[in-house]
Amino acid sequence: MRAVVIGTGPAGITAAETLRRLDPSGSVVALSSEPYAPYSPVALADHFLTGRDETLYWKGEGVAERLGIDERRESVVMAVDVDNREVVLSDDSRIPFEGLVIASGSRLHAPIEGSDLPGVFDFKSLRMATDLVGRVHRGEAHSALIVGNGLIGVELSLLLVGLGVDVSIIGRRPWVMPRVLDPATAAIAEKGLVDRGVKLLLGVEASAFVGSPRVNGVRLADGKILQADLVIAATGVKPHVEFLKDSPIVCEWGIHVDNKMRTSVPGIVAAGDVAEAADWLTGERFVHAIFPNAVTQAPVAAANLLGANLTYDGAEAMNSLKHLGIPIVAMGTIDKPDDVLRWESAGCLRAVYLRDGTIIGAQLAGDIRSAGVYRSLMLRRADVTCFGRGLVEPDFNIGTVVSNALVSR
Ligand SMILES: Cc1cc2nc3c(=O)[nH]c(=O)nc-3n(C[C@H](O)[C@H](O)[C@H](O)COP(=O)(O)OP(=O)(O)OC[C@H]3O[C@@H](n4cnc5c(N)ncnc54)[C@H](O)[C@@H]3O)c2cc1C
Repeated sequence: MRAVVIGTGPAGITAAETLRRLDPSGSVVALSSEPYAPYSPVALADHFLTGRDETLYWKGEGVAERLGIDERRESVVMAVDVDNREVVLSDDSRIPFEGLVIASGSRLHAPIEGSDLPGVFDFKSLRMATDLVGRVHRGEAHSALIVGNGLIGVELSLLLVGLGVDVSIIGRRPWVMPRVLDPATAAIAEKGLVDRGVKLLLGVEASAFVGSPRVNGVRLADGKILQADLVIAATGVKPHVEFLKDSPIVCEWGIHVDNKMRTSVPGIVAAGDVAEAADWLTGERFVHAIFPNAVTQAPVAAANLLGANLTYDGAEAMNSLKHLGIPIVAMGTIDKPDDVLRWESAGCLRAVYLRDGTIIGAQLAGDIRSAGVYRSLMLRRADVTCFGRGLVEPDFNIGTVVSNALVSR
């Protein structure tokens, strides 16, 4: 097949790799709007903290050459011409395809006045991160205001304090990572952040980015203005779908896909942050914009494009905090449990969220060794009532879980 892949992020490069492996006589053109080899945004903070390239260029910088992928950088797709089966680039050139994988990922979503002012940074791409860290290295930035207390804001704060910057996070919700951490787990993360020197302004609404001609501060809802050398928006992400607006490919927040990762147009599939796939728990379409979903959706999408009939089991929420010094993992949901089991001692925490006797979410801090077991039980929708409170006790025995699971078969 003559295939085109839009995007060389984790989803795009995984899809391109799968296409090459399953269809060695076909051809794959992989397009990226950026000037870099395929990289993983997950490793941005690690890369700038340690100087390590291996985690950033996670498939190796020469991945395209090694796999025979025709990788084209700084190639921005402006439209998909479904009738003629071509992608249209910003220089008006066209690339024909028989099969198309859309893996264009996500971009900053900042519905705040002034977010388009010159100088407002985000931490979504290698280009932005390079500019931002460059200012610190050149001694031009000693203070930073980060608007947004989700994973990206928290990760960036740890990178910047690591580089010696005076960092404040402004967050509307009263605890960090409110969509994935419960208040007790967040309290452990917040202590880790404060111990490292991050200032937390939580429960505080930022109403505008301000400054002229360049941004130099943030106006809060009470009218107060805070100023800093670096002003960064980390308010959320949105699927990159603007270039599909004139195409018949159905999009809402992201691209609608079925459980085969197929879009509404035959021969066009989507994967990663751009795809609205079914949530494993609710079955409803949702974008869980995380790495594991991107790299598990992509092979399914690519194989099905070639005529396979693989089913994607559903996207899940799973987050971990890196660089905090305390391991923290959160999975599933904390929404509408009918019971919550908790165990907490000296900076360690385990909380399991239950509905109808099954695990719908779990939070671990300090000691995260049970994370894999909870995840496995959660995804299997195993009935865990037999464990009672034992599920969160320190002596929770994995052997018991396995033997109980075998007995209950
Ligand atoms: C700082 C940070 C930390 C993160 N930490 C974690 C973590 O700890 N764990 C976790 O699971 N997830 C984490 N994530 C999320 C994770 O990085 C994403 O879920 C993952 O990168 C999604 O991969 P993707 O390929 O779908 O999209 P992306 O990585 O966004 O890649 C999109 C690709 O599409 C290209 N593109 C976009 N538009 C066009 C166009 N019009 N034309 C051509 N090319 C285009 C881009 O150039 C890029 O190559 C983090 C993200 C960030 C930013």
